[in-house]
Amino acid sequence: MTHPDPQPPFLVFGAPRIEEAEIAEVEACLRSGWLGTGPRVAQFERDFARWRGVRNSQVAAVNSCTAALHVSMVAAGLEPGSEVITTPLTFCATVNAILHAGLTPVLADVDPVTQNIDPDAIEAAITPRTRAILPVHFAGRPCEMDRVMAIAHKHGLMVIEDCAHAIETEFQGKPAGTFGDFGCFSFYVTKNVVTGEGGMILGRDEEHIARARILALHGMSKDAWHRFGDEGYRHYQVVECGFKYNMMDLQAALGIHQLARVESNWLRRQALWQRYDEAFASLPIGRPAPAQAGTRHGYHLYTVMIDPNRCGISRDGFLDTMNERRIGTGVHYLSVPEHPYYQQRFGWRPEQWPNAMQLGRQTVSLPLSPAMTDDDATRVIDAVRDIVRS
Ligand SMILES: *Cc1c(COP(=O)(O)O)cnc(C)c1O
Repeated sequence: MTHPDPQPPFLVFGAPRIEEAEIAEVEACLRSGWLGTGPRVAQFERDFARWRGVRNSQVAAVNSCTAALHVSMVAAGLEPGSEVITTPLTFCATVNAILHAGLTPVLADVDPVTQNIDPDAIEAAITPRTRAILPVHFAGRPCEMDRVMAIAHKHGLMVIEDCAHAIETEFQGKPAGTFGDFGCFSFYVTKNVVTGEGGMILGRDEEHIARARILALHGMSKDAWHRFGDEGYRHYQVVECGFKYNMMDLQAALGIHQLARVESNWLRRQALWQRYDEAFASLPIGRPAPAQAGTRHGYHLYTVMIDPNRCGISRDGFLDTMNERRIGTGVHYLSVPEHPYYQQRFGWRPEQWPNAMQLGRQTVSLPLSPAMTDDDATRVIDAVRDIVRS
């Protein structure tokens, strides 16, 4: 007997592609008895440094991008209350990290086409208290780093790049995260390289990274690997008040093999992106801007804009209907000033950054995981077509 109308499996948004190599490495790590920060983290750091073309002493693995952003801003040594200019179209972690570092976030609106922070808006937001710019390479599309760096040099500002979406991103042949003083990467489960939770700090200045390493492990002068390794017990010194932000070998076990497949996964997402782009060309939905010449897009998110006047359905109605069709979606992002905490603390209103507000109220991220099959992509395309046509 066949079941009437069987439900397709739920297509999980951002499902990671985990293969046998990761599973075997995690098992080997467990069997080794060394779960904490150790040889696998060191290897992951070396692999990441080589892949981005920097020295080993320029990277430090941590347990999230949020931690990377926080530690970077502390290591930057900015005086308390300094203003940091960032985008309103980002995850709350970007702004929270600024606050946890004792600094003051200042928002500069995005360009409505690129969805990245608008360099003109950065210039307009500069005050005598501005000390840093924190651009986010949204969806994997690089910010205009030539202009961002020119503004930074002109005003003597530090630059901390939020590369959570931008592991593969390049601007004019140079990797995202290598323009500024710091680049901060995420290996969260939905990101392009996955360690479960995880992050990486990339620094132009080796001394900054040395300080970031100490800050990421309680402010201790030697890490635990050296403390309990086979060379005998070593005393450590606490040289400042740090945090507990170190990555585990268990996490790096995933990352080593994820990073080895970063290019093939990127190619897969690019193919999915192109399929979506062709399929949606004739629909009344907004599509992401094509990758800019001379850059490499990270293809982290494929975002469509649902304008109720053109699509005949609200954005939230679209999300609900996709869910009924058993397809997971995301919203990246409701603009930061939509959230009550920031409204109450800073008096921000979404209308002050109209481009981010408008994008945030219409945007939907479609599944773009390299784990997706061609049939999965067809399901997404058919669902979007049905919803905006009916
Ligand atoms: C995911 C994300 C973060 C935070 O990353 P975690 O590794 O989860 O801490 C920060 N900024 C942006 C833009 C992100 O998408």
